[in-house]
Parts: sequence; C-alpha cells; structure tokens
Amino acid sequence: MAQVQRIIPIVASAALAGGIAPAERIQPRAVSGVFTRGRWALVWLTQALFYGLPWLNWGGRQAVWFDLDGRRFYVFGTVLFPQDLILLTGVLIFSALLLFVATALVGRVWCGFACPQTVYTEMFMWIEQRCEGDRRARLRLDGAPWGAGKLLRRGGKHLAWGALALLTGFTLVGWFTPVRELAQTVPTLAFGPWEAFWIVFYGAATYLHAGVLREKVCQHACPYGRFQASMLDPSTRVIAYDEARGEPRGARARGVDARHVGQGDCVDCTLCVQVCPVGIDIRQGLQAACISCGLCIDACNQVMDKLQSPRGLIRFRPLAAGAGTARWRRPRVAVYALGLLVVGGALAWGWAERPELRLNVLRDRSVLARLSEDGAIENVYRLQLMNATLQPRRLLVSASAEGAAVRPVAIERGHAIEVAPAATAMTVLTLRMAAPTAQQQQQPGGALRMIPIRFEVRDAAGGQPLKAWSTSTFALR
Ligand code: SF4
Ligand code: SF4
Repeated sequence: MAQVQRIIPIVASAALAGGIAPAERIQPRAVSGVFTRGRWALVWLTQALFYGLPWLNWGGRQAVWFDLDGRRFYVFGTVLFPQDLILLTGVLIFSALLLFVATALVGRVWCGFACPQTVYTEMFMWIEQRCEGDRRARLRLDGAPWGAGKLLRRGGKHLAWGALALLTGFTLVGWFTPVRELAQTVPTLAFGPWEAFWIVFYGAATYLHAGVLREKVCQHACPYGRFQASMLDPSTRVIAYDEARGEPRGARARGVDARHVGQGDCVDCTLCVQVCPVGIDIRQGLQAACISCGLCIDACNQVMDKLQSPRGLIRFRPLAAGAGTARWRRPRVAVYALGLLVVGGALAWGWAERPELRLNVLRDRSVLARLSEDGAIENVYRLQLMNATLQPRRLLVSASAEGAAVRPVAIERGHAIEVAPAATAMTVLTLRMAAPTAQQQQQPGGALRMIPIRFEVRDAAGGQPLKAWSTSTFALR
C-alpha cells in the first residue's frame, strides 16, 4: 500500500513573499556529502571546459574559436560558416528539451547543479570562506565595526572576486579572439576597444551575479525559475521534507528512539536551513525559491547519522505520495523524449550532411548578354566558393546547359580557383554559347530567352573528392 504523505503546497518563500531581497545577507554554512561533491564535480567539469578549451590547439589553430570578424566558427577540425547557424538553433532546441525532460523527472536539478549562476556562486562562496571564515565567523564579521582586520578580510575577498571575474571576462573574450594573442597583450593592457569592453563588462556581470546578487538572480530575474512549476507533475522527484516522519520536531539525545519519546525524527537543529544557499526552510514545504541543490539533504543525513537514525528525512521523492512507480512512463516525459529524439536525429543528420564546399552563383545583371566578335553569346557570372575544410583547395569549375534547349557551353576565363583553408573566394566567370540557329529555335524550347545552367566545382587535387553545384540561367538576348 502506498505510504500516506501530505502533499505540501508550493508556497512563496519569505524572501519572495515581499518581492524584495531579505534584509540580511544569507551566509550559508559549508557542508559535505554526496550532493555537495556532485555540485563540485560539475563546477570542475564545466570550468575545465570554459577556462581550458580556448587554450587547446587543434591542427595548428585554436581548437574552439568563434571568429566573428571572419564570420566562421572553428570547432576542432570543423569549420562552420554563418549558413550553418541552423545547427546552433538545433543545439539550442535540443538543450531546451533536455532541460524540460530533466525538470519533469527530477525538478530543478539544472538550477542546483549546472546553471552558471549556481556554479559561479559556488566558486565565489569558496573564496569568501577562505577569506572570511566559516558561517559563524562571517556573521560575526558582518556585525563587527570596521577596522584593519575587517578591511583586510573584506578587501582580500573583493580583490580575489575581482581577479576571478576578470579572468572569466578574459576567457570569454578568448573564445572569440585568439586567446594566446590576447594573453600577450595582458602585460601592457593593450586590448582592442571591443575586447576591453567585453572583458570588463562580462567580468563585472560575473562579479555582480555571483558575488553580490547570488540567490536574488534566481528569485527575481531568472524566467526559468518562474515557469518550471508548470513542468512538474505528481511523479516529478523534488527535494522534500518527510513531515510524517519528522514531526513533531524537538531535541533528543543520540540513540534515543524518537517514537519512544513521542517525537518525530527532526531534532530542529536548523542545519538544513543554515546550509541552504537561498536561505529557505524546506520543512515549510516545497518553495519556489528552492533550486534542488540537495545541500539540505547532505546536512540532514549527517545529523541522522549522528543520531543513529535512518537517512532520508529530507530526500528526493515524488511530488505526490505513491506517484513514483510510473517515473518514466508519463505523457509529458514521452513527449519531451520524442522531441529530443527527433531534434537529436535531425542535428546528427545535419552535421553529417553539412557540405564542406559551397558554391553560390550570381549572374552579373549589369551585363545581361553580349555578342562576341565571332557571333557567340557571352554571360558573366560571379561565383562565391566556400571551403569549409582546413586544407587549401584548387577547384575546377564546369558548367552545362540544362533543359530542352541543350547547347554546348564553354568557360572563357577563370575555370580553376584557389581557395585557402576555411576561406571564401570570389571569382568572375564568363560563359560562351553559340547563338541558336534557326533550326534550333524551331526545336521544343528553342525559342527560350533564358536557358537553365548548372555550375559544378570539383576538387582538382584528386585527393579527398569534394563537389558542389549551383544553378543559374544563361540569357540568350
Ligand atoms: S531547500 Fe535544500 S535543495 Fe532547496 S535550495 Fe535550500 S538547500 Fe537546496
Ligand atoms: S537538518 Fe534534519 S534534523 Fe535538523 S532541522 Fe533540518 S530536517 Fe530537522
């Protein structure tokens, strides 16, 4: 039989109820445990990628470089042009669906573990603890009058925060500008105007969000925090206090069975509240401010261990009692999973089929059709070739007339084109065609003024075969 649990309504936290920040700054207590380790694992993983990737070289070039000036993105051995931005849209849709499915299954775990706001706040809080001490020492420092000691601790913290924030801004710019060249300008601070702006702007934003505003960003500025409740259903796992087991709360000695003294398992030590980075009491029920970080679980499990009581007074559990059996087989999870499958498949197909050579043809409209001295008709075209590989290419252009009125076509000039690695080349090409005879004009389609033309480019080196084609028209008059 399903365990009877009271469904605790979602209520606004004290901080949210007034719509303003709490008067006192939250000073969370440090805690250890499986969720804390999980959070730090994600801090290391995400920051190793963020700070480390720009320094990685691949084929003699920065492995990941979003070259906005050159309008191409290098992702290891792949070169992406603005035409490939559809893939970025696919990645964004895929990420959003992944977020939805994770939220439907386990609530706001993204917020608690991997959101940049959480990750940077964790790093800034680590610095704060090193400079100002544990929670109690920080609270004492908050209330202490200004003096040399306070100035030193606070000043040291803000200096370290500033250095980390600027490093973050520098690294962000390093994704868009060759980071090694950027690093050489650090001693002289001779950054370009845009680089200087973004280092300072992003650094200041990091400092403000992770050092000063912290949980207020999640509570008042993040739209996801507002609509995530609509993605929960009775089977969604959320972090919740087991009220039936914990109440009535009260102090008791270690090893004393709570039931024998007429109490619940909660000893009202408030450790779960002290470790909470958003300053809420999970025992009051699921709250909009809760970011599912699991730190209250770590804290409470430590208390339960000391009391020799079973763990799990605070734990992940279904939003509604007895709704845990069909965890995966739920309509919304199925819909999100199907969406993930479709978008993921389309992305994989799009990536695999992404052309490494592109050809765009524009007919020169200023010179429509001209008659040469020998009576042939000439059309002029502008060809744009995009080489999305990291090898130089020598490309041969060919053209053929399509449709009913097939006539031989000759390329007059510029049929071999050199294109540098990851570059675009423009060239002008002249096509010649014999003027249609009276007999040809009698044939089906022979009286056409415009003949469809197909252009094709091939890699002339004979190595890795690459081919691209495009169409245009040949004006006969
Ligand atoms: S209540 Fe628990 S899970 Fe929610 S934010 Fe606070 S510590 Fe994290
Ligand atoms: S940490 Fe556990 S025992 Fe302590 S107050 Fe919170 S729920 Fe009760």
